[in-house]
Amino acid sequence: MDQLIPLTAGDESLPGEDRQDRARGQLRKLDIRLPVAGRPAEYTLRAGDQRMGLNAWLGRRVELRHTGEIHCIECGRATRKSFGQGHCYPCFSSLAHCDLCMMRPETCHYFQGTCRDPAWGERHCFRPHTVYLANASGLKVGITRGTNMPTRWLDQGAIQALPILDVETRQQSGFVETLFKAQVSDRTNWRAMLKGEVDPLDLVAERDRLLASLEPGLAELRRRFGHDAIQAVDDVAPLSIAYPVLEWPRKIVSFNFDKTPRIEGTLMGLKGQYLILDTGVVNLRKFAGYQVAVSAGAA
Ligand SMILES: [Zn+2]
Repeated sequence: MDQLIPLTAGDESLPGEDRQDRARGQLRKLDIRLPVAGRPAEYTLRAGDQRMGLNAWLGRRVELRHTGEIHCIECGRATRKSFGQGHCYPCFSSLAHCDLCMMRPETCHYFQGTCRDPAWGERHCFRPHTVYLANASGLKVGITRGTNMPTRWLDQGAIQALPILDVETRQQSGFVETLFKAQVSDRTNWRAMLKGEVDPLDLVAERDRLLASLEPGLAELRRRFGHDAIQAVDDVAPLSIAYPVLEWPRKIVSFNFDKTPRIEGTLMGLKGQYLILDTGVVNLRKFAGYQVAVSAGAA
């Protein structure tokens, strides 16, 4: 549950400032959308039940102040520390979506009878997943539920993405990803991603190269799970993604609300789940559940 603290008299807007340019509440991950091809991604900051379009804040002074309170994004209870991007420890250690097998789907333990929440697993893991190639800081492989594209790529700050294989379940997509990991990273170098030093790749050529060289492993998985379990995605063009960035940072300084409760600077860009300020960058997803007061100066 979102904890919303009403605006108090002291929080009232200054003359010349739009009241909507300040918010106070529990942070959630940035909402990122891709409106129309060729236009930069659109960012919305969520604090409590307030939503603020961040693209309009580019070039303005912004302040994000952590009040010291953290509330679990799942159950709302106060917690001194956040686990797994915004959970209290009891939720982190008991919820199915916080289990390690979410990060490493090939370690799915549903069939051992130890899934934390079998009904949840059936709804979320025994569903089609997509294996994709993306370019966030170079070529990477990843998996996502079909319904989570292109959000997953936007969250990673990918500038290109191409779905390549449709796979019947999450665990099976994990086995496919494991095959690919012999040749391609599954990680993003977030510093390189934020410096904007990323050259475009020919994802179609990379796909064809990888599918050819991994064919024996894929054939083995099809023998195990059925021919239809792993299918090539219909030939689609790679997606290109632009981000609203005025200027790339030369040196990356990373802010952390635990050490720096008050983060201030001019907003120079938005990429992945990061705000790029002229003073440093902050990964807002990491601080989901943190109570913050956010404001932007006059345009
Ligand atoms: Zn909780």
